[in-house]
Amino acid sequence: MSLCDVHCHTERSACAEDVTLDWYVDIARSTDAVFAITDHSAQLFYPPDNRWAFWGDNPREVFDSCRDEGPARIASYIEDVRAVQTGGMLLGIELDIFIDGTIVCDEDRLGDFDLLLGVAHTFPALRAEANVEEVYDQFQTMVGHLAKLNIDALAHPFRPMRGKGYEITDDLIKWLVDIAGEYDFALEINSHSICRDEDIRMAKLAWETGVELAVGTDSHRKAEFGDFSYHREIAHVVGVRAEDLYWCPTVPETV
Ligand SMILES: [Zn+2]
Ligand SMILES: [Zn+2]
Repeated sequence: MSLCDVHCHTERSACAEDVTLDWYVDIARSTDAVFAITDHSAQLFYPPDNRWAFWGDNPREVFDSCRDEGPARIASYIEDVRAVQTGGMLLGIELDIFIDGTIVCDEDRLGDFDLLLGVAHTFPALRAEANVEEVYDQFQTMVGHLAKLNIDALAHPFRPMRGKGYEITDDLIKWLVDIAGEYDFALEINSHSICRDEDIRMAKLAWETGVELAVGTDSHRKAEFGDFSYHREIAHVVGVRAEDLYWCPTVPETV
């Protein structure tokens, strides 16, 4: 059995390069690949001419200014992916939230997705490059909110903090593995931007404690899709078969 990819972007994500929904449809029709389309909720919700505003200086003001159009844009994403869904394709979303738990999506649309990929992309202490205790504290708050939303998996847990140069302690990894076990979501091993040392520590602990891991290519380019070499490398270091290490979502009945 092949591995399942919980994290793929289309042209609806601002950072996508050459991937398109049509291209994934062809793959779903012609192969038995299982993968989730997971565009950024913040880039679906925010105005097309300001798609990075969630990462900017006044994310809340821009969010409040598109309380009508944002949900409509998410609704059209749901409709468009559903309309072409076939084979092993799942309708997912890379779900952003604010530090107070406000989700960047209609709460009543969350049940429409086959897969919820939660993410703590940015939060005030990280933007302010605050001390590590404050950053950890807010990261834990963000993950706590996502856990309560019943996410299926948490995307690239360490990338935003590593990107700003914060070290990731074993204690934080243990906290993360514990909450994933408690709320039953998978922790992503992400091959788009690699945090090898943290991933290995997390994967070993997750395997030992029976917490699930998920494969995410986070494909922004066609060349990234279907390349599970990093995920297999992590399984090799843990000392298990990749097929045993990683979780696979259930594919909904479509056509
Ligand atoms: Zn992401
Ligand atoms: Zn992504």
